[in-house]
Amino acid sequence: MNSPYFRLAGFALSIKKELSLKILLLLMIVAFSILQAFMLAYGTAGVFSGAAPSTIFFYYAIATVCILIRAVLTGKQEVYTKKIAGRAKAVLRSQLVNKLIDLGPKYQSLKRSGRLQSLVTDGVEYAEPYLVNYLPQAVVVVISSLCIGGYIFSFDWKVGVILMIAVVIAVVTPLLLMPFIKKAALEYWQGYAVLNAQYIDAMQGMNTLKALNAVDRKGHELYLSAECFRKRQLHWTFFSLISSATIFLMLAVGKYLTVGVATFDMAAGILNRPELLVILFLVIECMRPISDLDQAWHASYMGLSVAHEIFEILDEPVTIVDAPQAQTGGMDEGFPRIAFKNVSFRYPARTEYALKNVSFTIEPGQSVAIVGKSGGGKSTITNLLLRFYDVEEGSITINGTDLRDYSLEYLRSKIAIVFQDTYLFYGTVAENIGMAAEHAREEEIIDAAKMANAHPFIIRMKNGYQTLVGERGATLSGGEKQRIAIARAILKNAPVLILDEATSSVDAANEHMIQSTIGKLAQRYTSLIVAHRLSTIRNVERIFVFDQGVLKEYGSHDELIAKNGAYKQLLEAQAIMEEE
Ligand code: ADP
Repeated sequence: MNSPYFRLAGFALSIKKELSLKILLLLMIVAFSILQAFMLAYGTAGVFSGAAPSTIFFYYAIATVCILIRAVLTGKQEVYTKKIAGRAKAVLRSQLVNKLIDLGPKYQSLKRSGRLQSLVTDGVEYAEPYLVNYLPQAVVVVISSLCIGGYIFSFDWKVGVILMIAVVIAVVTPLLLMPFIKKAALEYWQGYAVLNAQYIDAMQGMNTLKALNAVDRKGHELYLSAECFRKRQLHWTFFSLISSATIFLMLAVGKYLTVGVATFDMAAGILNRPELLVILFLVIECMRPISDLDQAWHASYMGLSVAHEIFEILDEPVTIVDAPQAQTGGMDEGFPRIAFKNVSFRYPARTEYALKNVSFTIEPGQSVAIVGKSGGGKSTITNLLLRFYDVEEGSITINGTDLRDYSLEYLRSKIAIVFQDTYLFYGTVAENIGMAAEHAREEEIIDAAKMANAHPFIIRMKNGYQTLVGERGATLSGGEKQRIAIARAILKNAPVLILDEATSSVDAANEHMIQSTIGKLAQRYTSLIVAHRLSTIRNVERIFVFDQGVLKEYGSHDELIAKNGAYKQLLEAQAIMEEE
């Protein structure tokens, strides 16, 4: 029951009403096809038996009406299928995206983003044929084959049995071949997903590749991957064609055998001429849905191969969840107090600790800085505070309550953050700032921008707050992006503010401006500044120095200088780097 066939079929239950209507439409098409077969059989029998032309005309006229009705129903059915497909894919995509959001950075850091992206876009697309074509068609084949086979069996059991055997073989053969096809299709899909991830990587790193003169090397790497993908594609097509050819053969053999046996039976006097003609036309109608089923099956291979990756994500347990009676209060009044007590943490799939037995406190309204060499564990502290990950040992409390006892939504609503890698979405400057607060008014957005020192450069742009920002803020400088991110954080109006290396990628002028903004903001929050340039945090009340996940020392700038320890070494190292 864990196979993707059943799991996807189970998912189809979420659109069962729509699929039932589609099955009904398909059955109506089959019913008119059967009526058409009878009319053609009687009309043709009438020609041989010398019936009146008006009688023959009557049968053919009804057959023509049947053809027209079938054409209309087929058109309607196809349009309807597109609608259901859109709905099924939207449901599946939103389930996947919601799950990925619930799983959060912890899960995504273990996966290549390009692969997740191809799964959500193309992978879901591939599930469409199985869900909206194969499954309903399979129901129709069972019903129509039983009806037609049963009817023929009632007056010629041999032909009925042969027909049913041919139908069963034609339907079951592709299922038997599936293990081979699935392997080839899975390799094809994985090749595609890797290629997609590589292309996204290369496009996003285009400037770096050019600067490193590595475009040709990367191009060759991409060529090799594309070549490997082409071979997998041919391999998959080969198996897919074998399956098709087998089904085609089965259908042809079934058709000729039934007609052959029926002709013998007529010669032996078991069948009369109209009955033979009915068999002739009905067998064709019986085989038609099976051909359609085969086509739908072919289109479904990829979806079935991709499905296991989709369900792997949907089945992944979410570990960062709300406690049963999660708190939604406790940080609404005044400034919060944050305390880390003996916190140790390792990232998934890592053996070394990112933080080891760390304890420190940030008093209400206090502004502290975290400094240290790269890889020291600074960003990990913000990751833990936002509960992107849970601590392994020890505890983090805000106002005495463990983070894990607050509801995630409440906790995150009380922390505003400026990440070191500012992400701006495609949209206007106002939309990007306003994202922090639902229904933010224009004046509020402008006030936040003013506080973040972003207002002057925004109004200098041609369309001001309505200026479109490219994806990831491509049209803005590093400093401008960060000031927008700070405005966003201010608009959020949360009592805790985290600035993660906000000055790492900006020039001296911008650094100075952001430094003065930090100074102003620090008074309005319990704030934590993850600092890269030590010059920006000289006036901060307390500085914590981290090295390889361990809190080495803390104190004010002057106290730490006097200690002549890790902080002093950092300052000296930075001074040498700046001179160079
Ligand atoms: P800093 O911010 O001081 O540069 P980090 O907190 O980012 O340091 O990293 C601390 C340690 O954790 C480093 O050894 C880093 O390689 C590791 N690390 C950081 N993020 C991840 C992650 N998502 N997955 C695995 N290891 C990580």
